[in-house]
Amino acid sequence: MKVGIGQDSHRFDFDNKEKKLVLGGVIFEEATPLSGNSDADVVLHAITNAISGVTCKNVLGKITDEMCANGIIDSEEYVKEALKYLDNKIEHLSISIECKVPKITPKIEGMRENISRILGIKPNQVGITATTGEGLTDFGRGEGISVFCILTVN
Ligand SMILES: [Zn+2]
Repeated sequence: MKVGIGQDSHRFDFDNKEKKLVLGGVIFEEATPLSGNSDADVVLHAITNAISGVTCKNVLGKITDEMCANGIIDSEEYVKEALKYLDNKIEHLSISIECKVPKITPKIEGMRENISRILGIKPNQVGITATTGEGLTDFGRGEGISVFCILTVN
């Protein structure tokens, strides 16, 4: 058994009226988008890092920067790139999201469905919790979103 930890955070891009907020591949309408060259899906980036934590093949950074430069801004493609190096069977993925806004809970089921589809596992193998952390961090005060996740493989 192996365990990979993944983390990522992005600031909100308050001036951007075109971009949509995407978390776990799910669009949050009417929400402030995150800054970043890609779609800035902080959840899928943390998952990409967790996979790299197992495979020891880092994808987020140099490889995704090149993909981004070639017009690939859908973060699902970054997860799939990281999965290419994973020989193990995924047992579970636990995700923890910290932010003040938007409200995450109404979208949790949709995110679990979509993430499990990308990873080729069942929705009950993807757990998602969300917290505002009582506003003790910049994320909890509404400056951006932070995500940690832990991937268990066999
Ligand atoms: Zn990121």
